[in-house]
Amino acid sequence: MSPTDAALDRSNHTLKALIAHAQAYGFIYPSSEIYDGLQSIYDYGPYGIALKRNLQDFWWKSMTQLHQNIVGIDAAIMMHPTTWKASGHIDGFTDPMVDNKDSQKRYRVDLLIEEHAAQLVAQGKPAEAQDLIEEMEHCLQAGNLTGLDKLLQHFAIACPLSKTNHWTPVRQFNLMFSTQVGAQNDATTLYLRPETAQGIFVNFLNVQKTARMKIPFGIAQIGKAFRNEIVARQFTFRMREFEQMEMQFFIQPDTEAKWFNYWQENRKAWYSSLGINEEKLNLHPHKQLAHYATAAVDIEYAFPFGFKEVEGIHSRTDFDLKSHEQYAKKKLQYFDPDLKKHYTPYVIETSVGLDRLVLMLLSNGFVQTEHPTDGQRTYLKLPAPLAPIKAAIFPLVKKDGLAERALALFDTLKYDFPLIYEEAQSIGKRYTRQDLIGTPYCITVDYQTLEDETVTIRERDAMAQHRIHMAEVASHLEVTTSIKSLLARL
Ligand code: ATP
Repeated sequence: MSPTDAALDRSNHTLKALIAHAQAYGFIYPSSEIYDGLQSIYDYGPYGIALKRNLQDFWWKSMTQLHQNIVGIDAAIMMHPTTWKASGHIDGFTDPMVDNKDSQKRYRVDLLIEEHAAQLVAQGKPAEAQDLIEEMEHCLQAGNLTGLDKLLQHFAIACPLSKTNHWTPVRQFNLMFSTQVGAQNDATTLYLRPETAQGIFVNFLNVQKTARMKIPFGIAQIGKAFRNEIVARQFTFRMREFEQMEMQFFIQPDTEAKWFNYWQENRKAWYSSLGINEEKLNLHPHKQLAHYATAAVDIEYAFPFGFKEVEGIHSRTDFDLKSHEQYAKKKLQYFDPDLKKHYTPYVIETSVGLDRLVLMLLSNGFVQTEHPTDGQRTYLKLPAPLAPIKAAIFPLVKKDGLAERALALFDTLKYDFPLIYEEAQSIGKRYTRQDLIGTPYCITVDYQTLEDETVTIRERDAMAQHRIHMAEVASHLEVTTSIKSLLARL
């Protein structure tokens, strides 16, 4: 096995272990699994949804609660079809795809080429890789599909399955899902939104007027988006139905450089508050920009399959509002009381995939180590405020009144914290089960509790145990596991 193959094999191995863990411990299941699943569509289990909701809550509060000038909305998934004409999605939301004639598999050409370039780098040919990427970007920018055909042939890029390069010509493929609304003969074609941002743009004036917002201000939204992705791989990294958390920040024209920088720094701090190490993040500025954009940067995380985008920050000028103005034939302008004039605001967008963030946290927190006495140990090192369950409460044994005391503690805490109560099996096995779902604390009621009202509290990562008074458990959990404790880091 070559060093490249070995590296790929190791990362596939980690991803496989992570997928198996997420499914076995109630985080993520394939959708409609009893019918053998549906490609690129996933369901969240009890712990997955709790983790996802906590993350969502953290993002929402960090945007709307920590910024006086950011408010939220919840727009519908189905929007007037002209929205997508104005946004450019009907004409331009396409991926170039190609089919391999031998394996019958379909690929996104840009991803196929990027993977080949990564292999060239691993083989010690970085200059060749760079040429390939630059050529590809030129072709994509110019919509030159024949150029992409030529690159596949020139670099002998082969299908990973059939290992041949018998490709069909490259074609453009629109990623939007369409559906029919209304009576059959007179139905209208609508699209499932491929991004949540347009729901914000079309509501710009509604929000500005009704919430009396003054520029600069932002509108945040969390919701489902749908894309008919050709490449179905890498688990929940690329899904056909997924959730986005987007914020459009409306600003005076000519202030975009300042605000782009502000949001880049703000979002970097958000990731560091989650305990993501700097070396696991990469800021990737786009060299080729969309025609309306003045700057764009991807925040990438080091997944087992390489550095990949979790969030995009884009300086979008006044493109979207102007385009909606033109198609809707309605003014979407702001009267600036300071400048005493009307203008179309510019926009800085932060756009992050919630499912990719969940995958990032699972990936970042998935620890498999050799413990000196206990053998192999697997645990999920999730930030405590995002952990699905904040604490598990155990009686050491069921008898002698310990179960009653433990249940009483559970009952006093359950209004404020998601907890698990468990009395079956050995304490060791109960600890292990909580480690596997990332519960930060296990609290045990034992014989000493009956004497002095103290309990042991065991911390997940270091497995350290100490005693605290029962009356202090609530404040300990509040300080260490509330979303507020994360917000305070920003
Ligand atoms: P990619 O290049 O990976 O396809 P993108 O640049 O098209 O992503 P954007 O349109 O900028 O992505 O969407 C913003 C965010 O939405 C992305 O950073 C990502 O986190 C998330 N996202 C986009 N497509 C998907 C998908 N198919 N599955 C899960 N999350 C997605």
